[in-house]
Amino acid sequence: MLDALSERLQNTFRRLGQHGKITEEDLDAALREVRVALLEADVNFKVVRDFIAAVREKALGQEVMKSITPAQQVIAIVHAQLIEILGGDQQPLKRASQGITKILLCGIKGSGKTTLAGRLALHLRSQGMRPLLVATDFERVAATEQLQVLGQQINVAVYSEEKAAPSPQVARRALREAERTGANAVIIDTRGAVALDDGFIDELAALADEVDPTEVLIVVDSMTGQEAVNLAKEFHEAVEGTGIVVTKVDSDARGGAVLSVRSVTGLPVKFITTGERLEALETFHPDRFASRVLGMGDVVTLVEKAKAAIGERDAKEMTRRMSRGEFDLEDFLQQMQQVKKMGSLAGLMEMMPGLGGLKQQLGGATLDDSYFKQSEAIVQSMTLAERHRPDILNGSRRRRIANGSGTTPADVNRLLNQFTQAKKLMQAMTSNKGGGAGGLRRMLGF
Ligand code: GDP
Ligand code: MG
Repeated sequence: MLDALSERLQNTFRRLGQHGKITEEDLDAALREVRVALLEADVNFKVVRDFIAAVREKALGQEVMKSITPAQQVIAIVHAQLIEILGGDQQPLKRASQGITKILLCGIKGSGKTTLAGRLALHLRSQGMRPLLVATDFERVAATEQLQVLGQQINVAVYSEEKAAPSPQVARRALREAERTGANAVIIDTRGAVALDDGFIDELAALADEVDPTEVLIVVDSMTGQEAVNLAKEFHEAVEGTGIVVTKVDSDARGGAVLSVRSVTGLPVKFITTGERLEALETFHPDRFASRVLGMGDVVTLVEKAKAAIGERDAKEMTRRMSRGEFDLEDFLQQMQQVKKMGSLAGLMEMMPGLGGLKQQLGGATLDDSYFKQSEAIVQSMTLAERHRPDILNGSRRRRIANGSGTTPADVNRLLNQFTQAKKLMQAMTSNKGGGAGGLRRMLGF
């Protein structure tokens, strides 16, 4: 995600910083490039215009050009301005002060509402709430079933009705069901239209009137860019939204929707989703997202993901083994599986400061998830003794493993080299002595 935009901005600032000092002309040339980059990323033209004007004014006002590190200062101003257009502080999901928290999801067909319903249920449950999912889409044959399957998958109750009924009535009965079963959050999935015609808007407005929602989240598919942003504005005018969720950010190299939607609608982005897996829901933090746009990485989100995927206890045990140098191929395999749980490798690299660029250098081939599959297959073709003591892996064992995993001895060697390097790096990072000085441990918070 964001690859194209991020790369262009980084190139622009690299050039700007080359000669140390910069003139007003240099600044304007760089801002012209930023402007083109943002427009090509499909950011709304008014948002771009205001953005460039604000950055220019601040840069000139702060006499950036006279400082010793003008390029860095321009980047800092751009960063701050990005945070501002993304909405400033993070806006948490509202909770009802008493009674049931009611979340209404709306958006056009295919924007990702139903999937989001499941994701929010997981999210709320992880915060100790008891969610109930509500199906109100009778138009698409399999819509109710899709939600039921999701509910089963994550073990969250789903309220649905067999016979088609007006959605306000369904919602009223669903709320009664929530009270009866002690659910304290309902997530109402709605039908999506292709366009916002009157019938659709009236139905949605009636539903909102009936429910009196705590949150009306407008779901925006980032792949459809400005069109989605304009639709979000129309939705907001029709039903008074309270927040935005931008979906499919993983499939969007440009980022225009995320960067425009706040300014165009005035509503805060509360979440983004970054993959097909249910876990791929991220609380939206304007500052972290701005860092990602500028290729500065997002370590905080990375660590949060790691904690969620690995679990505090396993992480502690793993770090202990790493620091003692006991880390073996069995651990390596386990770790790969955990990284897989955290999302795509390419997405993770983007959050590592300085690694965004590396991704381009390495090219897609080494970084898609088939890399994991191959590595897993290799380790799984080893005996337990071999996994614990990789030093016994001589030529004939390596050939056997290559055959067993459908790879080549060169692949096996590559994996073993990576393992050795990872082991060294981890020992350095986790030990209390040495250069890493427990950096990883501190990062993970224990
Ligand atoms: P709805 O019609 O608004 O209910 O949309 P769905 O929830 O059924 O989603 C439509 C399609 O988008 C499904 O195939 C989802 O798997 C996919 N999808 C949803 N969110 C994401 C995302 O963040 N990333 C990707 N790659 N696909 C997504
Ligand atoms: Mg749906």
